[in-house]
Amino acid sequence: EHLRGHFPTGLKGLDAALSGGIPFGVLTELVGPAGIGKTQLCLKLSLLASLPTNFGGLDGRVIYIDVESKFSSRRLLEIGLRSFPEIFQMKAMAQEMAGRILVLRPTSLSEFTQSLEQIKVSLLQNQVKMLVIDSMAALVSGEHEQGNCRQQTLSWHISFIKSLAEFSRIPVVVTNQVRSHNHDDASRYSFQVQRRDGTLEIPIRYDSHLIAALGIHWAHAVTTRLVLEAKSGQRFIKVAKSPISPPLAFPFHITSSGISL
Ligand code: ATP
Ligand code: MG
Repeated sequence: EHLRGHFPTGLKGLDAALSGGIPFGVLTELVGPAGIGKTQLCLKLSLLASLPTNFGGLDGRVIYIDVESKFSSRRLLEIGLRSFPEIFQMKAMAQEMAGRILVLRPTSLSEFTQSLEQIKVSLLQNQVKMLVIDSMAALVSGEHEQGNCRQQTLSWHISFIKSLAEFSRIPVVVTNQVRSHNHDDASRYSFQVQRRDGTLEIPIRYDSHLIAALGIHWAHAVTTRLVLEAKSGQRFIKVAKSPISPPLAFPFHITSSGISL
């Protein structure tokens, strides 16, 4: 039943804008500055995916590529305990839920490459219902290949990840940090959104270091881009690119129970 389309984030306005939540079978990118809440959202989504369906979950496993060792099982369990006490107050259940999230920590792009084939098999065999890559830019930043060769390697990875999403039909969530919150520092960038009534051009700020790191191929491989940002002390999550939603922004908070609107 969950193959039908979207995975609710629990952030109601956002889910409505995305006609149900994070889409299955394609890449969703979370972009924002350090500390804004990208990993917090990934933790929440991972937790949700692991939950039984009667709690709004996908009742499945999650593969979490934790490039910068920012995954925290302690935080995951805290969010679980606060949001779903019925489940997480029972130690065995809490352990089972946490155990469904398989955390991989590749130390290089080549190590990640080696695990990709294995990931592909796991996606089919282990009832994996979501793939998280936190973060993509961090994964490739350690590579020192230059020019064309680097672009080719990257293109291969991008296509492979995209095809993983397509054939397994699960949501693939990828984060990317943008360097600064100073808008003057970020280059203006424009994305086209195809709508039934024509093409909508959405100018967004997409940090130039991200384009330099991942190339334009990456920007186009992403189907839905959510930009997290803060303005006058309030955090917002903005639909910056989507085939179905106009560019809407929703305020959110991070508390001990995780991300909420
Ligand atoms: P980076 O790009 O550096 O990885 P990020 O966007 O992934 O940053 P997160 O780690 O998701 O950022 O968010 C960190 C923020 O989450 C902290 O600044 C803090 O405000 C909030 N946070 C983390 N844990 C808690 C908690 N237990 N209670 C309340 N807020 C928390
Ligand atoms: Mg993070």
